[in-house]
Formats: sequence, structure tokens, C-alpha cells
Amino acid sequence: MKVSADRHTCTVSSLCVYKSPEVFDQDDDGHVILLDSRPRTELHESVRDAARSCPTRSITVEEDGDG
Ligand code: SF4
Repeated sequence: MKVSADRHTCTVSSLCVYKSPEVFDQDDDGHVILLDSRPRTELHESVRDAARSCPTRSITVEEDGDG
């Protein structure tokens, strides 16, 4: 899995940080910070959940068959 997050479209909702705090954080302005672009397998479902929850579709998940 490869993850990316677009800070330009992020609207500071915090949902991704709530859903997957090991992969997403926020800067002082509240915009998303990607902590881990290649999260380990145990985190994949929470990352998918975060991507689905993002109101601005700012999180992109590429499934590349690594688990
Ligand atoms: S869920 Fe989306 S809009 Fe909300 S903080 Fe995360 S990236 Fe930004």
C-alpha cells in the first residue's frame, strides 16, 4: 500500500488523525501531515477508513499487492 495526502485540499477536519493516528498527523495549522507513506499491513484497514472518511478526498491509497 502506498499512501499520499494532499495538504492543499485538506480542510482541517482531523478525521484521518482520529481514524489512523500512526499514519496521519496535523501541523500547527491543522493540515494533514503524512507520517508513513508505506504503512505496515496491520494499519491498512484504518488507512482505508481514513481515506473514505476524508470529506475532501485528500487522501489517496494505492493498493500494490504488498499485503
Ligand atoms: S480527513 Fe482529509 S480533510 Fe480531514 S484532516 Fe485528514 S486529509 Fe485533511
